[in-house]
Amino acid sequence: MGVSLVMIGIIVLVVLVLLLIIGGGIAVVIIVSNKKERNNRANSAASDEMQYCSSCGAKITGDSEYCENCGAKVEQ
Ligand SMILES: [Zn+2]
Repeated sequence: MGVSLVMIGIIVLVVLVLLLIIGGGIAVVIIVSNKKERNNRANSAASDEMQYCSSCGAKITGDSEYCENCGAKVEQ
């Protein structure tokens, strides 16, 4: 009986260690995917900063105050 109890204890320990390793791996994957999502969001936010004329929709280049296409004032 004593030997089988020790075996059960060892098996439980091994299972717990495996669960810890698997859980740690899943946590790392979740953290990495979250970082990738944040990077993607940052990139899309940067592209959203591109200015377009509110009057004609033309792209505003540089810090121009007026639209090069229609001459409307660009709201900064
Ligand atoms: Zn315009």
